Amino acid sequence: MVSNPIPLPKLTLLQEQEDESNSTSNSPKQTTSLLSFSTTSPHNPPSKPTILLISLLFLTTAAAAFAFAFLFFSSSSSKSHPRLHSNTQFSRPLTKLRHPVVLLISSDGFRFGYQYKTPAPNINRLIQDGTQAKLGLIPVFPTLTFPNHYSIVTGLYPAYHGIVNNFFRDFSTGESFSMASHEPKWWLGEPVWETVVKHGLKAATYFWPGSEVVKGAWTCPLSLCAHYNGSVPFEDRVDKVLRYFDEPSEDVPVFMTLYFEEPDHQGHKVGPDDPQITEAVARIDSLIGRLIDGLERKGVFEDVNIIMVGDHGMVGTCDSKLIFLDDLAPWIDIPKDWVQDYSPLLAIRPSHGYSAADVVKKMNDGLGSGKVNNGKYLKVYLKEELPSRLHYHASDRIPPIIGLVEEGYKVEQKVSRRKECGGAHGYDNAFFSMRTIFIGHGPRFAKGVEVPSFENIQIYNLITSILNISGAPNNGTLSFPKTVLLPHL
Ligand SMILES: [Zn+2]
Repeated sequence: MVSNPIPLPKLTLLQEQEDESNSTSNSPKQTTSLLSFSTTSPHNPPSKPTILLISLLFLTTAAAAFAFAFLFFSSSSSKSHPRLHSNTQFSRPLTKLRHPVVLLISSDGFRFGYQYKTPAPNINRLIQDGTQAKLGLIPVFPTLTFPNHYSIVTGLYPAYHGIVNNFFRDFSTGESFSMASHEPKWWLGEPVWETVVKHGLKAATYFWPGSEVVKGAWTCPLSLCAHYNGSVPFEDRVDKVLRYFDEPSEDVPVFMTLYFEEPDHQGHKVGPDDPQITEAVARIDSLIGRLIDGLERKGVFEDVNIIMVGDHGMVGTCDSKLIFLDDLAPWIDIPKDWVQDYSPLLAIRPSHGYSAADVVKKMNDGLGSGKVNNGKYLKVYLKEELPSRLHYHASDRIPPIIGLVEEGYKVEQKVSRRKECGGAHGYDNAFFSMRTIFIGHGPRFAKGVEVPSFENIQIYNLITSILNISGAPNNGTLSFPKTVLLPHL
């Protein structure tokens, strides 16, 4: 058994109502200077019985149609409808496929801006003829691979979908989660492939964290659910996805995933500013070209809604930017076995009998004393006292003490052998370097449009909206899709 049952957030109709009425919110305000988006507090109490939710959903859909009609005829400006730059007003009809299809592509560690590092004609074709998040997609905290990939497909913050780190320990059972753990008890929430199958539709996954977990309606059938194998050439992954379009139109999966480990691997080795990264980006671009060519040959390129994202960005790190926990010894000893993760997410669970609040105070006393090397670049919190915009406390899987380090710094136990400079991610998602890309291309995306940056927990609602299916409760905002997608014809 996993520790506590983690409550799922309720549908975000409260936020919806707030958006519509501009009323003041009871939920905590976001305070970061970098982030201007609005998110729903996970603490909103359930507000309406299910039937009312469904009614409101229907009314909201109708209201959205009216809103778009109004925008079309009035050309008024509105903060919540940033698509006014669009030249296209309605979605484009399908020409060959019989139903909407979403192909969700992840290029791991594709930092926002990489798309401009080198000529990337294929990615830029998607951008020019599609919709891009102008200043990038905002990952969830911690800006790590598994928490973010699972947020993208569930619409939930990690505290609610349960994957709070790439590795973590369940304190109540002593069991450990790793990236190879496929037991459903770890993976909470409803990923989009499960939502799709629940609606009697077909989904196919070519690698995605959580996709191999047999849970609910999702059985991970062998022909539609590839088991992760990092040695499969990227070209083979593209070709396999292309083959799904050889099926009779009604049998083509409505939702597909495609995953590439690059440029993350290179980014860790050499940091974000290196010729090897440029090569990795060019390689991803050529794979996107292979995909586009294949879809064009099959006559479906303009019919498929391609969503290309990354999970997080990347920042350069060097050994001079280190903070050693052993340097805190004059204030408090932090034994190794208290530390569940060092960097960039410092996660500490003190032994029984120690007060977490006391540990936090003593650590911060030391870090702020001016006597600890780079101490001012680490701040330690009780998890309940972390900035609310991080949404990182409502799970027993999150240890009681969390440290936030400044961009590019790393925490280690003690002075060790020197390492070469490289790259890392996992930092505060307010850092611009942690941002990644969002590009949407296809019938539901306006051409040549840029939308304001948004958090990746909004993508689940985007996908269900394109597929015309109802989604599970999540942290995204129900009104969000209409700010990015073209309305149905
Ligand atoms: Zn990653």
